[in-house]
Amino acid sequence: MSRSIIVLGAGMVGVSVAWHLARRGHAVTLVDRREPGRETSFGNAGIIQREAVRPYAFPRDVGTLLRVLPNREVDIRYRPAGMLNAAGPLLQYWLNSGGERYQRITREWASLIVRCQDAHGPMIEAAGAQELIRKGGWLELYRRQKALDERLAEAHEDRGRFGVEYEVLDAEGLYATEPHLAQGLVGAIHWTQPWMVTDPGALVQAYARSFEQQGGRLVQASVEEVVQEDRGWRVVTSTGVLEAEQVVIAMGPWSSEMLSRLGIKVPLFVKRGYHMHYSAEQGATLNHWVMDAEKGFLLEPMRAGIRLTTGAELADLNAPPQYKQLAAAERAARKLFPLGKRREAEPWKGARPCMPDMKPVIGPAPGKPGLWLAFGHGHQGFTLGPATGELLAQMVDGAVPAIDMAPFAADRFHG
Ligand SMILES: Cc1cc2nc3c(=O)[nH]c(=O)nc-3n(C[C@H](O)[C@H](O)[C@H](O)COP(=O)(O)OP(=O)(O)OC[C@H]3O[C@@H](n4cnc5c(N)ncnc54)[C@H](O)[C@@H]3O)c2cc1C
Repeated sequence: MSRSIIVLGAGMVGVSVAWHLARRGHAVTLVDRREPGRETSFGNAGIIQREAVRPYAFPRDVGTLLRVLPNREVDIRYRPAGMLNAAGPLLQYWLNSGGERYQRITREWASLIVRCQDAHGPMIEAAGAQELIRKGGWLELYRRQKALDERLAEAHEDRGRFGVEYEVLDAEGLYATEPHLAQGLVGAIHWTQPWMVTDPGALVQAYARSFEQQGGRLVQASVEEVVQEDRGWRVVTSTGVLEAEQVVIAMGPWSSEMLSRLGIKVPLFVKRGYHMHYSAEQGATLNHWVMDAEKGFLLEPMRAGIRLTTGAELADLNAPPQYKQLAAAERAARKLFPLGKRREAEPWKGARPCMPDMKPVIGPAPGKPGLWLAFGHGHQGFTLGPATGELLAQMVDGAVPAIDMAPFAADRFHG
């Protein structure tokens, strides 16, 4: 049965939800205050991360905590006000970052990750976006053999449990494939499955165009209010009122603000991140996406230049930008690869929408028939948008979803 459905938020998650609902014959309106894919889904590292079967945990060992405490690191920075405001969810996240809880969360999380490429594949094809995709994987670089060996032990386990594929490069093999990386690296893990996107925002836009080709309607307007009516939902926007039988909230880091106005509290917090593009110094080339695993930044040879993306900044969503973390990452990156000039005047800033148990919320809103939720994908929303869209569309249609969706239910935070 065809239904009228409004999807709020046109990042990777919202666009993918809208695409799947339209494909199933529903009358779908997708609303965003900007063009599709201009916020978090624009500025990320652009990796469709088939290898990321372990959700991104907080460090729990004393050594790392002492290292992070002076707030001068590249991988994690914090702003005291942001830490204080999100103290409850942050503590829960930290508690979930180890032991049996982390093991269970990993199994649940991996059930989504393993679907990522089967879900992106048909969308890339329908959108004709193949030219944005680079296959062949990315490199996780190491300076210390002990750190590489520890990570390899995890990779070995993940191969057996979740079908993750990788190759090990020793220093010689690494420098043969990336001759312009600085000396001092002992080797790398080459994750061979992931796909890299040379312009993440453009991929979201291509998916949105494909959604429109399937009959979907795109509205550019700011959502001001979502109101439950007797027979459906009313969405008040800056350009007018929309009505539909059902509504999906897929507003990434802004989802909790909108939900709190509906009386639904969700413990979402953000890990912010920055990026900047650079030219390469003359004659230097970077052939792969590379992560400096021990420092905590990535370099990505994208369409706009070599993109440097930072780790996590624990700060309020709306706090002004603080560019010290990017500056520290840039200093470290210049030691790794001969970066040339910055290509933009101002760095880009975004915010990973995170939940205290590291898993997204995908499913019905508790106590609000016809309201659906899809947000909180943290470090891997670009990877997981299409799988989320596929699963949510199955739930909306009352079909049995392809995997158990209980671990992603919104009511897990309410008793
Ligand atoms: C530095 C960095 C690197 C990353 N690297 C990767 C990676 O390599 N791989 C990966 O999988 N993930 C990565 N991520 C995470 C990923 O980018 C996010 O998880 C993902 O983009 C979230 O998508 P989303 O659709 O939920 O949110 P968004 O893309 O933020 O979309 C939310 C949308 O809601 C709209 N919106 C909000 N409020 C309103 C309103 N009132 N009215 C109308 N519209 C509104 C916004 O305009 C926005 O378009 C990275 C993140 C960062 C910060």
